[in-house]
Amino acid sequence: MPLLEVRELKTYYFTLRGPVKAVDGVSFDVEKGETVGLAGESGCGKTTTALSIIKLIPPPGKIIGGKIIFEGKDLVTMKDSDIRRIRWKGIAMIFQGAMNALNPVFKVGDQIAEAILAHEKNVSEKEAWERAEKLLEMVGIDPSRAQDYPHEFSGGMRQRAMIAMALACNPKLLIADEPATALDVIVQAQVLEVMRNLKTRLNLSMILITHDLSIIAEMCDRVAIMYAGKIVEYGSARDIFKNPQHPYTKGLIGAFPSIRGPKKSLQSIPGSPPNLLNPPPGCRFHPRCPQAMPICRKEEPKVVKLGGGHIVSCHLVG
Ligand code: SF4
Repeated sequence: MPLLEVRELKTYYFTLRGPVKAVDGVSFDVEKGETVGLAGESGCGKTTTALSIIKLIPPPGKIIGGKIIFEGKDLVTMKDSDIRRIRWKGIAMIFQGAMNALNPVFKVGDQIAEAILAHEKNVSEKEAWERAEKLLEMVGIDPSRAQDYPHEFSGGMRQRAMIAMALACNPKLLIADEPATALDVIVQAQVLEVMRNLKTRLNLSMILITHDLSIIAEMCDRVAIMYAGKIVEYGSARDIFKNPQHPYTKGLIGAFPSIRGPKKSLQSIPGSPPNLLNPPPGCRFHPRCPQAMPICRKEEPKVVKLGGGHIVSCHLVG
């Protein structure tokens, strides 16, 4: 049984102008020890999917359908008090821009220890501090730096400290939303290396949200490509990068430089994602798709299974 099963998840934001269908029938699994990437342009529903999983969707957002099964229990129908128990201990999230969320007036070690004390019973302050030091060590920061204040840390160290904090209660699933954005390339590589080590060392499952396909290629076992609130292609990272089937996936891959392989000019995807208050009928990608056919404007493509867990929603396939 997968650690997490998301089935036909629908999360809408109910605005005065009507419902914004931010996540509209999304399904994917995360196995134990696996990293699944959610990729796509800004506003495609990646972050809303993550916030739905930890049930922290800001108003006026609401889950209106589907299931989120974590360790056999449906989080959608679970009481808030039970969800609170699962957050941190079962599922932890590193939010976008998290490194700026450390409180400047408290020592980094105190902030991690505080997270432990807030979520675990029968832990003394001394034990929590020692665990905070160990967690910092685990993310490659000298434990003595637990005494430092956030301004004494570099950006990369603050981000690693936030990873340490997310791991404070030994979660089974870590969701990281753009964990390396806003860092320079070398620091970005260090943060990703820390995450890769943690995955192996702790057999951690991860959902990695990013618009950067090179990060997905390096870090993920499986990838879900999202467009306008839907997953348009899903499969092993190998299948997605070697044998992409959906024109949007091909467009995204063409828009990213490849370190290995032949040099080629980068192609951007023309146009911009649709307004989800009123998404286009049929295939939501049709206004931007270079291969759109008349049927694409009318009928939503069905999910086609290509074998090996590779699925795609496009009228060109199947
Ligand atoms: Fe393009 Fe049609 Fe496929 Fe949509 S269904 S991606 S418009 S070919």
